[in-house]
Amino acid sequence: MNLLIANGRVIDPSQQLDAKLDLLIEDGLVARVHKRIKANDVETIDASGLVVVPGLIDLHTHLREPGQEHKETIASGTRAAVAGGYTAVCAMANTVPPNDERAVTEMIIAEAARNGSCRVYPIGAVSKGLKGEALAELADLRAAGCVGVSDDGKPVYNAQLMRRALEYCTMLGIPVIAHEEDANLNEGGVMHEGYYSTLLGMGGIPAASEETLVARDVILARITGAHLHVAHLSTAGAVDAVRAARAAGVNVTCEVTPHHIALGDDAVRSFSTNLKMNPPLRPEGHRRAILEGIADGTVNAIATDHAPHHFDEKNVEFDLAPFGVIGLETAFAVCHEHLVRKKVIGLPRLIELMSAAPARIFRLPCGTLAPRPPGDVALFDLTTPFEAQAPFQSKASKSPFIGRTLRGRAVGTAVGGVVKYSRT
Ligand SMILES: [Zn+2]
Repeated sequence: MNLLIANGRVIDPSQQLDAKLDLLIEDGLVARVHKRIKANDVETIDASGLVVVPGLIDLHTHLREPGQEHKETIASGTRAAVAGGYTAVCAMANTVPPNDERAVTEMIIAEAARNGSCRVYPIGAVSKGLKGEALAELADLRAAGCVGVSDDGKPVYNAQLMRRALEYCTMLGIPVIAHEEDANLNEGGVMHEGYYSTLLGMGGIPAASEETLVARDVILARITGAHLHVAHLSTAGAVDAVRAARAAGVNVTCEVTPHHIALGDDAVRSFSTNLKMNPPLRPEGHRRAILEGIADGTVNAIATDHAPHHFDEKNVEFDLAPFGVIGLETAFAVCHEHLVRKKVIGLPRLIELMSAAPARIFRLPCGTLAPRPPGDVALFDLTTPFEAQAPFQSKASKSPFIGRTLRGRAVGTAVGGVVKYSRT
């Protein structure tokens, strides 16, 4: 079945396209984008009043399968993805067992093909068992389909191991994705270390715990010539370090999350565990630095760090709750509100940060509506306000944006020309 998406405002940053156009998908591939396409035997979607964009790509999703299916599964996580306009997600390696060997990668790919609603690109572990001691079989992981490697959830403390990972990944043509946190500086921290942690009497996570490791890894990326991708960057110092390194020719990219774009640590006064994540929400100065990094191009991509937990696990005191909140279903609307409507960047640039740019960074064959790539498309309604509310498609419900009025809801998502989500 072929698919015609008619009368929408098509925005495709990969080819500087922004106009009222029709889009035809044939045999799962983008066939044509043109004014008024006539086609027989097609399923037609009227996209009047909607924007039509390349399906969003998330570089940082925790799907929790295998091993923690009470939190999320490949099926439920990808359902959440398409409900947010995502057509591809990169699945982090910290499952149980972790994705540190070929068999796990193959299981994830097979399950995604069987029960997934969107494309799933696995990320392999840097170290065996995520223990930070010995390198995982990186070439094997690459051959099995991993698009990057990361011990995310934890940093790679051993600088020599990180250096070796960077060297190997240069040969494999994939990035090392770094969770930058020296937890020795945190000692039981549950939120950003600063005014509000003191006021609330909670243990703090200093900005320095992120910035010290970013500084180290930028140096390792420089001496190896490897591609370092900094995950969920959250501090002003980290933005500065990436900006300076890139100016000096280091191959470093970075992502930021919607919650670090939209929220500050003052929100934690509510004690809601919906606001407990790692890295934590930071004060306004850090948030502004992230916005500046987005505006000047230092920040390469927006990624959700969708980190679902079971309701019971999060339904405890702030101190005791696990780190992590969901994000796939609200990411675009939150960024539309906080970046586009507040005039930090224009709409095409936002779409680039969530589609073409992530594809480029991890070398994925999507993120464009130019002819021939997979027909992965998302439709958004930018004008009708809606309230973010549980239940979500995700098995988890802990979102920091519950109760917020947003504009920019996904109303339709097609993967390979097949409609996987529709709000009508
Ligand atoms: Zn992380």
